[in-house]
Amino acid sequence: MYGGLNGCWDYGPLGVELLRNIKEEWWKTMTYRDNIEGLDASILMHPKVWEASGHVENFTDPMVDCKQCKARFRVDVLSEMINEKKRTKALEDLKNSVTGDSLLTEKYSQALQTEDPFSAVLEDQELGARLMQEINCPQCGNKNTFTTARKFNLMFKTFIGPVEDSGAVVYLRPETAQGIYVNFLNVQSSARQKLPFGIAQIGKAFRNEINTKNFLFRTREFEQMEMQFFIKPADDKKWYDYWKAERLQWFKNLGMTESKLRYHDHPKEKLAHYAKDATDIEYEFPFGWGEIEGIHNRTNFDLNRHEEFSGKSL
Ligand SMILES: [Zn+2]
Repeated sequence: MYGGLNGCWDYGPLGVELLRNIKEEWWKTMTYRDNIEGLDASILMHPKVWEASGHVENFTDPMVDCKQCKARFRVDVLSEMINEKKRTKALEDLKNSVTGDSLLTEKYSQALQTEDPFSAVLEDQELGARLMQEINCPQCGNKNTFTTARKFNLMFKTFIGPVEDSGAVVYLRPETAQGIYVNFLNVQSSARQKLPFGIAQIGKAFRNEINTKNFLFRTREFEQMEMQFFIKPADDKKWYDYWKAERLQWFKNLGMTESKLRYHDHPKEKLAHYAKDATDIEYEFPFGWGEIEGIHNRTNFDLNRHEEFSGKSL
């Protein structure tokens, strides 16, 4: 009625049935077994949770603004918008800009040796800033109009109670996992579980994505079905492989075509701040391969951090 809100989707009469069926199947498979317990944690949590999890510090994307037309871009998305010819040209112009500065020239030639020089240059703070000045804004076409890149946190902020000051800030959870970690001890003792065991939940999460795209694939409000499986550190490889196989089989059991399913292992240098290993299960949609599930070895990062920040032993 009001044109909708970008990155937020409503499910209609048929869509909601499909959604409920998927959730129901998942819930049955994941929780109707001895070694996994169910949970429904709240969306608003103590703000310290997100300091401990690293989200306040690390859950950010570098962003630039165009000073001319005020358009805002995520740096990685902006670089995807630039074609090969323009990239080469920008890199050549950058060469002139760094001439005379031996340190930058050295970094520049190192970046050129890599597989993707353009991205390598962007990753360096000083070189990246200079490269941005060689790029035309995709919206207004002007050059030399980008601000320096700033970190933009993807968590939605709001205030608890009547006073809107910094002491009252809370976040809409950007992932359901933290609700599982902070309830780890409660669940373990109340359900009399011993390692290895898991905790599963289905719930809403929110991320203030700058660029929403691909239909339901990057939205600002979304639902996660998530299970965290707690194990002894020495068994991590064994259980990681077990769940990889188990979860792929689940999609096959739903009747999905085998040839349209595959793993996409994340390269080490692209892993999230908490992960030791990560893979996506991908499905081949009409528009190409897309992630339908992620499996991560998060090590003891989360429980360690919550021990540190809460002073309680987990
Ligand atoms: Zn512009």
